[in-house]
Amino acid sequence: MNNIEIEKLIDDLVSANLILFNEGVLDAFGHVSVRNPNNRDHFFLARNMAPGLVTKGDILEFNMEGEVVNDDSRKVYLERYIHSEIYRERGDVEAIVHSHSHSIVPFSVVKSAPLKPLCHMSGFIGTHVPIFEIRDVTGNDSNMLVTSKALGASLTQSLGKNTLVLMRGHGSTVVAPSLKQAVYRAIYVEVNAQLQIQASRLGPIEFLSEGEARATQITNEGQVDRPWNLWKSRAIKAQKYWLSEVS
Ligand code: MN
Repeated sequence: MNNIEIEKLIDDLVSANLILFNEGVLDAFGHVSVRNPNNRDHFFLARNMAPGLVTKGDILEFNMEGEVVNDDSRKVYLERYIHSEIYRERGDVEAIVHSHSHSIVPFSVVKSAPLKPLCHMSGFIGTHVPIFEIRDVTGNDSNMLVTSKALGASLTQSLGKNTLVLMRGHGSTVVAPSLKQAVYRAIYVEVNAQLQIQASRLGPIEFLSEGEARATQITNEGQVDRPWNLWKSRAIKAQKYWLSEVS
């Protein structure tokens, strides 16, 4: 990619932060990253701050050790190792969203209710969603956060070849072959979780078959520009409004 295309990718990463905040996937916490296509051992991620306030100047470049590559002493996210370790292991992953989005958390703690795709917009969830149990690594007294390379590697192992991993009592991490697909998946896995909780109150659920999950994923993810453009314009308008209200 030339410099202009890299600038565009970073602009998109800023938009991804605003979109995921505006759509209720990220709040003051959680983060989204994208791999540097010119140096596949590096990725871009905001400094330690609320995603809804991220601007271009807040984006930093990291290496696979989870460290900032240029001389920049600004505070970084404690859980950046989620990103560095997944990028190291999964060459097919170009973007990652780590969130605590609310409706997914129940599925991380109720083992008898596995998260499964029930709606044609969420076929990417696939047939199996693993749950990362941090106690297996840290014992019973951890702060539940992925704050080291070892924990990031362990989470990556739980993720396996899947598109997302739930993190018990914490949230989820979603991966994708592009930034726009990562945003789409992070939004629609939250929607699917909401629908699954609602449907479970009505009765037994008919989930997508494996073939339906695969076919719907291919169709929908070929159209990610449409929701992206809508979410982006809505997020920018909303941010303008609430920034003017608080100043
Ligand atoms: Mn977290």
